[in-house]
Amino acid sequence: MTTPDITFDLKPSSRPLADAEREAALADPGFGRHFTDHMVTIRWTEGRGWHDAQLEPYAPLQLDPANMTLHYGQAIFEGLKAFRQDDGSVALFRPDANARRFQRSARRLAMPELPEQTFVEACDLLVKQDLAWVPGVGEQSLYLRPFMFATEVGLGVRPANEYLFIVIASPAGPYFPGGVKPVSVWLSEEYVRAAAGGTGEAKCAGNYAASLVAQAEAARHGCEQVVWLDAVEHRWVEEMGGMNLYFVRGTGADATIVTPELTGTLLPGITRDSLLSVAADLGYGTAEVRLSTDDWKAGNADGSISEVFACGTAAAITPVGSVKSARAQWTIGDGQPGEITMRLREALLAIQTGRAADPHGWLHRVV
Ligand SMILES: *Cc1c(COP(=O)(O)O)cnc(C)c1O
Repeated sequence: MTTPDITFDLKPSSRPLADAEREAALADPGFGRHFTDHMVTIRWTEGRGWHDAQLEPYAPLQLDPANMTLHYGQAIFEGLKAFRQDDGSVALFRPDANARRFQRSARRLAMPELPEQTFVEACDLLVKQDLAWVPGVGEQSLYLRPFMFATEVGLGVRPANEYLFIVIASPAGPYFPGGVKPVSVWLSEEYVRAAAGGTGEAKCAGNYAASLVAQAEAARHGCEQVVWLDAVEHRWVEEMGGMNLYFVRGTGADATIVTPELTGTLLPGITRDSLLSVAADLGYGTAEVRLSTDDWKAGNADGSISEVFACGTAAAITPVGSVKSARAQWTIGDGQPGEITMRLREALLAIQTGRAADPHGWLHRVV
């Protein structure tokens, strides 16, 4: 059903965190450890649609033990960042793309779709209210976490008839405080993240729950991250943890940047999509391909694959330094961050922080 324009009820906190405490949190924010003073909430009920939109103090929720999400897992989320710009203003990076992906995730989980404009407005409102929480320097940002889950109480298995949409925000420090460091990856041949027809394309909580045991397996093999392969043949490279992957073919100005194609089992990352444009703008070739673990190993050995990196909102770009599987092990290049990887990383961050032009209109000014 369509919902008429949603207006937000503003109920700001009468007790925001003291300046000194906020400054202390911002001095070493880490990731997802501190939360701002407010949150935005919107309710949905069958027959009524979206209603009760509020900006309110950040606070715990009360849940009935028979809350349907706790049992059947209708829970989706997004992640996007607000960056303080060089001119002092604050901008969100491609919030419209997150809004549309959130709608697609909702459809897959049989949940109601929040209008794109309402999603963006909710993010704007929270950032404006908690502007003092947007860090000021370098790669730091305010990470926004919009999410939605079922609030109906009951144990019958069916789509719930009540949902709650919330946006919370958390200051994020530089992902690599000690300088960019490549990660080691484990090729998971035992566990899979997603199969055709499943929820791989949706940003849903369950995908992460299913990934944790593989991440632990990677750690047991001395690797920091898990690389997901396709569910049928266990040989086509899909993603790394919660990030998409890129491979640099060739070197220098003739390099082509390739990424696994979106087959329906990969999460369509907004960073992945942005980098296809950023790389082309820098004059590199780009392609979406199918790449097997054998191709990767052979390409690494003969030098045709010179660099590998992962990308996502949290880290922007993370170089991959070494690969391990049950049968093989190899180092990418000299194990250090590649030149093109770092060039793309810098180019993306420069757009996000307003140090470079924004030719694709990706920045959404909040103030
Ligand atoms: C969120 C996510 C990504 C990255 O998406 P971005 O929009 O670039 O942050 C990649 N893979 C998975 C599994 C994800 O959940």
